[in-house]
Amino acid sequence: MGIRENVEKVLKQIEEAALRAGRRPEEVKLLAASKTRTPQEIKEAYEAGVKLFGENRVQEAREKIPQLADLKAQWHMIGHLQTNKVKYAVKLFDCIESVDREGLVEELQKRLSREGKVMPVLIEVKLSPEESKHGCLPQELPRLTEKVLNSPNLKLKGLMTVPPYFEDPEKVRPYFAELRRLRDELQEKFKVELPELSMGMSHDFPVAVEEGATIVRVGTAIFGPRNY
Ligand SMILES: *Cc1c(COP(=O)(O)O)cnc(C)c1O
Repeated sequence: MGIRENVEKVLKQIEEAALRAGRRPEEVKLLAASKTRTPQEIKEAYEAGVKLFGENRVQEAREKIPQLADLKAQWHMIGHLQTNKVKYAVKLFDCIESVDREGLVEELQKRLSREGKVMPVLIEVKLSPEESKHGCLPQELPRLTEKVLNSPNLKLKGLMTVPPYFEDPEKVRPYFAELRRLRDELQEKFKVELPELSMGMSHDFPVAVEEGATIVRVGTAIFGPRNY
């Protein structure tokens, strides 16, 4: 199947999952995880209706995003962000989904204020310490949240997670529910609105939508298998 058919199928699955959960399908944004994909493949997804893309590596984004500048697309950083790449990231991206430590918040604040730019961000949460490499631990979340809320050039929008991989997507459901619970707790504690939950990938996004995802990050189900 081609990229267009894949996008249509994923959008249909998002719609069905939203309706099953009593949600409005428009509440869920499809982000195409475009790491390793060529500008041509990205254009095909765009023409099929995807307007939001996620890249994992600043270096790759620096090569690709300028080539696609004529698309009215939004770009999210979804991979681990090294502090020394922040100066490029603040220029390239519309949102950083992978904020996971205080040093990164400080560097983002510094560079964003220089650019005169306010950046929407998500905090990446590590829900299974043994399996994911990056992300803030749940017990560190209030402190990091406070730090982001105190950074005038960062606009906290919600939380993101990469749960462990299970063949059976039902096994991932508790992780999605937990991210939502942590979000609800932060909203209560800090009296802020955190509307976004970025969770769900190719094999488990329908379950993530049922559990409240507002951004699903889908790579292989759109572009086909990847080599890394
Ligand atoms: C690659 C990637 C995805 C998409 O993964 P697929 O299984 O190909 O859908 C989602 N989120 C992050 C952070 C990724 O790196």
